[in-house]
Amino acid sequence: MLPLQNPDECRSANIITKPNHKIWELKNGEEMYDFLNKSFPQIPIDKIISPQEAQRFATSEGGSFPTPQYCCGFYSKLNHEKAFIVLLGDAIHSFPPDLGQGVNSALEDVCILNDALESNDNNLSNALEQYESLRLPDIKALIRLMQIGYPWQYNQAPIRKKLWSINVIFRLLLSKALPSILSPQAVFLIRNQKISYREILLREQRTTRILYVSILMLLLAFLAFRLRNLTM
Ligand SMILES: Cc1cc2nc3c(=O)[nH]c(=O)nc-3n(C[C@H](O)[C@H](O)[C@H](O)COP(=O)(O)OP(=O)(O)OC[C@H]3O[C@@H](n4cnc5c(N)ncnc54)[C@H](O)[C@@H]3O)c2cc1C
Repeated sequence: MLPLQNPDECRSANIITKPNHKIWELKNGEEMYDFLNKSFPQIPIDKIISPQEAQRFATSEGGSFPTPQYCCGFYSKLNHEKAFIVLLGDAIHSFPPDLGQGVNSALEDVCILNDALESNDNNLSNALEQYESLRLPDIKALIRLMQIGYPWQYNQAPIRKKLWSINVIFRLLLSKALPSILSPQAVFLIRNQKISYREILLREQRTTRILYVSILMLLLAFLAFRLRNLTM
C-alpha cells in the first residue's frame, strides 16, 4: 500500500500469494479485519480500510497471473484491405509483472508501429507487415526472458529461489570482472532501454554457454590432474 501525495486519497493494494493461502478462505469483512490486524499489527487497518472494502475483498474471487505467452499474428486485413485490425500491448504479449515490462513493452509496440507507419508513408498494409516482422523476434525474446528473468520472487519455491539468487550474484560478480565477455542476469540488463529484448536474451544465453564450457573445462582439467597423480 504505497503512500500517495494526498493522504486522503484512496490507496490500492495488491495481495500476491499462493492459491492455497488462507487469505482466500476469508468469508466476510470481519474475518478480513481480523486477519489483517493479526498479520500487520503495525498498520491501523480499521482506519484505512472501510467495512465495504473489506467485505468486497473477502467476497471477491481474486485472479491469477498469466503464464508468459505471445500471439504470432499482430494484425488482420479485412474486406480486401479496406479495414484492418492491429494488436498491441497485452493483446499480443502477456506475462506476470515480474520484470516490470508490461507498460514498457506496450509503449515500445506503439513506437515501432509509429515508425513503420512513417517509413511506409502511412500505407497501413505495408506498415503492419513491417511492424510484425520487426516486433515479433523481440516479443519472442521478451517471453523467454519472462520465464528466466526473475521467476522465484514470490517465494513459490524457497530452495530454487536461493539457488537462483546465488546464480545472479555469481554472474554479477563475474560480469564486473570480465565485462566484455560475460553479462549480468537479464533482471539487470532489462533496465537499460537502449538494449533490445533480443540482445538481452543473446547476451544471457552467451554467458550461460561460456559458463558451462568453463565449468566443463575445469572439471576435465581436474580429472586429468587426478589421473596423472594416480598413474605416477
Ligand atoms: C498486478 C499487476 C502489476 C503490474 N505491474 C507492472 C509493472 O510494475 N510495470 C509494468 O510495466 N507493467 C505492470 N503490469 C502490466 C501492465 O499493467 C500491463 O502490461 C499494461 O497495462 C498493458 O497495457 P495495454 O494497454 O496493453 O492493456 P490494458 O492496460 O489492459 O488496456 C486495455 C484497455 O481496454 C479496455 N477494454 C477491454 N475490452 C474492451 C472492449 N471490449 N471495449 C472497449 N474497451 C475494452 C480495458 O478496460 C482497458 O482499459 C502489471 C499488471 C498487473 C495486473
